[in-house]
Amino acid sequence: MTAPYRNFIAGEWIEASAASANVNPSNVADIIGDYAQGDAAAVETAVAAAKTAFPAWSRSNVYTRYEILKKVSDEIFARKEELGRLLSREEGKTLPEGIGEVTRAGQIFAFFAGECLRQAGELVPSVRPGVRVEITREPVGVVGLITPWNFPIAIPAWKIAPALAYGNTVVMKPADLVPGSAWALADILARAGLPAGAFNLVMGRGSTVGQALLEHPDVNAISFTGSVATGRHVAKTAIGHFARLQLEMGGKNPFVVLDDADLATAVECSLNGAFFSTGQRCTASSRLIVTEGIHDRFVAALKERLAALVIDDALKPGTHIGPVVDQKQLDQDLDYIRIGRDEGATLAFGGERLNRETEGFYLAPALFTDVAPTMRIAREEIFGPVAAVVRVRDYDEALAVANDTEFGLSAGIATTSLKHAAHFKRNAEAGMVMVNLATAGVDFHVPFGGRKGSSYGPREQGTYAREFYTTVKTAYELP
Ligand code: NAD
Repeated sequence: MTAPYRNFIAGEWIEASAASANVNPSNVADIIGDYAQGDAAAVETAVAAAKTAFPAWSRSNVYTRYEILKKVSDEIFARKEELGRLLSREEGKTLPEGIGEVTRAGQIFAFFAGECLRQAGELVPSVRPGVRVEITREPVGVVGLITPWNFPIAIPAWKIAPALAYGNTVVMKPADLVPGSAWALADILARAGLPAGAFNLVMGRGSTVGQALLEHPDVNAISFTGSVATGRHVAKTAIGHFARLQLEMGGKNPFVVLDDADLATAVECSLNGAFFSTGQRCTASSRLIVTEGIHDRFVAALKERLAALVIDDALKPGTHIGPVVDQKQLDQDLDYIRIGRDEGATLAFGGERLNRETEGFYLAPALFTDVAPTMRIAREEIFGPVAAVVRVRDYDEALAVANDTEFGLSAGIATTSLKHAAHFKRNAEAGMVMVNLATAGVDFHVPFGGRKGSSYGPREQGTYAREFYTTVKTAYELP
């Protein structure tokens, strides 16, 4: 089948035997386009192309790499409104959020363009007379990149940019639900001056394209972002040929509100962290852990803010929260809302399907109170605009509840106490800790990642990305 949006393999736009429609979740009658669905054979060709391209690219001039990545960044910035619109149209986050994410992708490429010029090794005195020891970093080889649907351009960017900057070649498989932004990024990369095969895009299903990438013995490293269940499968499969692994997975991020918190700060952080981007963020604050002295005021103020939110078409000016990404995710959110009620929690706000001008997956943000930490809505990742308020006695109980989870991505606290802020930063079992800031919303030049079931392997982003995308060589020389 001829799809207008094809795969990019070995420097060519390649047709696939199947295609899938990219549907706007704000308006299911709006089809963004038909995108190629690759298969195992496409992966085979792409991996072979990446393998062939690797020796030259891994030794390419760092200034050439800098220029290519800088060019990609410049084009992303120049087209951020248009690309942001495409992103919001296919994923359902609001237009300002879509443009914000595209801007982030531009910043990431700019950062790693600079990193091309900052690669250095170490020269170390030997314990043996006359011997020189050099410690250098070399690219890993062919890297397979597998990304989820909730950040359709930022996550591809934060994997592709460091992979190329450090001299690896890439086979990228974006989420099949939202291939548009990844395709647009591939189109920019295709015109940026990369040698054929250095970057390849194979769109399609996880069970075919993703699976073939995991199983391919010539894929030296896999960087995956997605759910815990898929992550576990990725690890088990790719370890079969000792592929290097980086897994970023789910979260059940706590946001603690203490009696001494500034109420407005606590409410804004909770609103943003739990509900913006339709709650579809791995760093979303899905557990609001609130001490009893502020609990009722906090819940009342948060409900008031929720009631003022506009839930509508992602592209409409004034929309605060767009639709859920698709029917499957909407069903999952509604299931959890039913489960929460059945478990005995109080649905204090929202949680019902909404009808808008166009047919889309609209859901009123849901706030549960009277939630026990043992309930499923307090333990499992829902990945929608659903938050659970857990009432606790004091800081000690709040910290214990915050850490009582199989996840460990981000954790936040609202407090004016220096003592509690410092203690929480040290004792929250999470890769990222926020004080008087939402659990979601991070910088692009510092490490990103978590602990426990949320992450496995080296961190992403900033200079820490080097740990995954390079391998260390120690060379001894007797001159
Ligand atoms: P998912 O696990 O369903 O899919 C992620 C990717 O894996 C997709 O590209 C999918 O096609 C692919 N895949 C599926 N089966 C595969 C297989 N057998 N082999 C290889 N690849 C396969 O996740 P999703 O629904 O797209 O995204 C939501 C999840 O992502 C949530 O759990 C969220 O927390 C997580 N997430 C984590 C981070 C982070 O940095 N920690 C960031 C964003 C999203």
